Amino acid sequence: MTRLNQKLCVVTGAARGIGAAIATHFRAEGAHVIVTDIDHAGATALAARIGGEPFALDVANEADWQRLAEAHPQIDVLVNNAGITGFEDGPVPQDPETATLDDWRRVHAVNLDGTFLGCRYAIGAMRAKGAGAIINISSRSGMVGIPGAAAYASSKAAVRNHTKSVALHCAQAGLAIRCNSVHPGAILTPMWEPMLGDGPDRQARMDRLVADTPLRRFGTPEEVAAVCVMLASDEATYMTGSEITIDGGILAGSAATPG
Ligand code: NDP
Repeated sequence: MTRLNQKLCVVTGAARGIGAAIATHFRAEGAHVIVTDIDHAGATALAARIGGEPFALDVANEADWQRLAEAHPQIDVLVNNAGITGFEDGPVPQDPETATLDDWRRVHAVNLDGTFLGCRYAIGAMRAKGAGAIINISSRSGMVGIPGAAAYASSKAAVRNHTKSVALHCAQAGLAIRCNSVHPGAILTPMWEPMLGDGPDRQARMDRLVADTPLRRFGTPEEVAAVCVMLASDEATYMTGSEITIDGGILAGSAATPG
């Protein structure tokens, strides 16, 4: 398992969920992994489990990125994974008619500003080698409108687009710094908990959420991590500005639904 041997990889939002799976897979492939999260205790626990290095980082805080740049001025891979839905404290209106400006900004500050700051740091930290891989975790929601989660969808669509600007910027500068976006569908992680609840309706809610997914199930964090390993590795050196969906087929079109 040496597809990422000797690579110095930074993963944001890595204390749990998809980020934790990415950090774990990277480590298993021989990478040195900087496990970053706003939840420092969680990052420290995961880092101890997999043999990584914890680092406290709120992706929306420019000063935190500056500290990271001082601690790790050169890296090979950055995964901009940290993200929020806006529903962390329970269901609040997130539709275009009633969402508050504060909620809109909070979601964009983490998902979009965080990714912008991450890309800027990574380009600087990859320049000396002239090569590297940036992976931005967008979403299926970055490709279609989601009326009930408008801020989330808008922020993820912007991440998709910024990925292409970064890819072209680096290519035009003659750098082999690649930047690609990943678009998961419904992946079962703690992010869903406030929406699923633990009452008797939990299973029915889960079934409803994947009813339109051709593969009729949630994806797993490991299924996302496997694709990130490929994008981070030297197997993907001709991929930049690309987008990869990992969504059980939902973006293939409703006509593709089995049966
Ligand atoms: P989780 O909520 O399970 O994990 C996210 C992690 O990010 C948590 O540890 C959280 O810490 C941390 N975090 C939150 N805010 C910040 C911040 N400002 N700076 C640094 N870390 C932060 O999410 P998932 O694993 O499900 O999602 C990971 C990514 O994948 C997100 O970008 C998400 O939008 C995207 N995605 C997820 C899908 C899914 O179905 N799960 C589908 C499509 C995309 P804390 O717990 O302390 O808040």
